[in-house]
Amino acid sequence: MLYALCVFFGSGAPMHEVSIALNLLDIIEKKCREEGYQKVESVKVRVGKASSVQPEAFSFAFEIVKKDTRAQNARFIIDPIPLGGTCLACGNRFETEEAYILECPSCGSLRLQVTQGYELEIVELEVE
Ligand SMILES: [Zn+2]
Repeated sequence: MLYALCVFFGSGAPMHEVSIALNLLDIIEKKCREEGYQKVESVKVRVGKASSVQPEAFSFAFEIVKKDTRAQNARFIIDPIPLGGTCLACGNRFETEEAYILECPSCGSLRLQVTQGYELEIVELEVE
């Protein structure tokens, strides 16, 4: 059984990866309880570059908090999302591997509309 979800599980404020992993696990456990699933096979999350969450630290935190839960054998898959958006001055569409962007890479304008990079979402949950 494969779930396609889009559940926001972080707040915009910087949080330690462990508390984010615990939040994530709470959502997963609740979902399993409600639907009557016993085991989580895999969890796929989307983590934006600007979300203040380090993917490595997040994976590590999840490995720790998943013990003795329905997700204890779950694979944890992180889909990293680069920071990106559109420049409101020149219309340039930009994407960067940096965690922040200050000015348009093509015209230098500061009027940027960031449309991706802050994600912290569960996108898939494989359960049994
Ligand atoms: Zn521009």
